Amino acid sequence: MFRIDLLPAEFGDAIWIEYGTPPARQRILVDCGTSAVYPAVRQRILDLPARERHFELLVVTHIDVDHIGGALDLLRERAQLGVTFGEIWFNGFVHLTPGGVVPRPDDADVLGPLQGEELTELIVANGAMRWNAAVGGGALVAPDSGTLQALPLPGGMRLTLLSPTQRELDRLKPVWDAACRKAGIVPGAATVADAARLDEAEEAEEEEDILGEPDVDQLAAKPFKPDRARPNGSSIALLAEYDGHRVLLAADAFAPVVIDALGRLPGRAGGRLPVDAVKMSHHGSRGNTSVDLVKAVKCANWLVSTNGKQFKHPDRESIARVIREAGSGVKLHFNYRTEFNEMWAAAGLRRKHGYAVQYPAGDGMGIELQL
Ligand SMILES: [Zn+2]
Repeated sequence: MFRIDLLPAEFGDAIWIEYGTPPARQRILVDCGTSAVYPAVRQRILDLPARERHFELLVVTHIDVDHIGGALDLLRERAQLGVTFGEIWFNGFVHLTPGGVVPRPDDADVLGPLQGEELTELIVANGAMRWNAAVGGGALVAPDSGTLQALPLPGGMRLTLLSPTQRELDRLKPVWDAACRKAGIVPGAATVADAARLDEAEEAEEEEDILGEPDVDQLAAKPFKPDRARPNGSSIALLAEYDGHRVLLAADAFAPVVIDALGRLPGRAGGRLPVDAVKMSHHGSRGNTSVDLVKAVKCANWLVSTNGKQFKHPDRESIARVIREAGSGVKLHFNYRTEFNEMWAAAGLRRKHGYAVQYPAGDGMGIELQL
């Protein structure tokens, strides 16, 4: 059993993964959306029998509010909910310097200028020994060259780091403080609305006519302008492998970084790595899914997590690139049905380009993909 649920996470990600041979069932949680999303994640946890409230791994992919917000709430409430984590993966300020490792509880003052930063404090409070434990408390980084090593989780899951490389962490360091404020980590320093304004400055909106049926060929051929937002670049992107299945969890990672890592993995055929599903980077933003990225994998299922708020994701260019370049049998999976993705349901378009679409069965239900 290998199942991926894209919970409704507003304009962010909250990815609930279950795997195992029944009756055994292991869980991974990748991000928790914004703080507003947390009640739904909390309810999902409370629905589990008390003895099953264990995750092999919590991944906080990067410090943007749409990924970290709910995770802060979850860690604050962890003990009351009776939740345990085998490991927590997150690159904190200490990890931005090469060789930096999680401090031992007795020398917590080496945490650096942002020792008051809340996620770090919460992780330490929840057991520093489990923080990035798979890499000895060091940074979760993909090597710039050479073989990529899979990290094993209990129950047979294997996770390979595709992003970030040290370069993206180096670039994040000078803007860490601002990025943390943007994510609302420093209490009272920023709101979600402030964060949205900042992000819009980074990702210039192109004025365009979004009325009418999309012209897939024209949209796919638009020049690719890569995302340069440093917090996105620092995203932990993973290839999750279990029981012969592979899922690419791209977080908000940069396309060239992911492409380079995929190119160094074994098992490619015709230059493409067979994967069962791709969680599209940065909510289907045009700056994170290039034609080259689509062509780096052989994949039928493309997952998009966003309600379109703030940034009107997914962009039509990214979806067109997938439809045009991913090969036959493409299925698009959206965890909300919105004005920014429902044009892809048009029967004429689906017939013409030979793809299928999945939306949630009802409001606020999210979607699941069983592999
Ligand atoms: Zn995001």
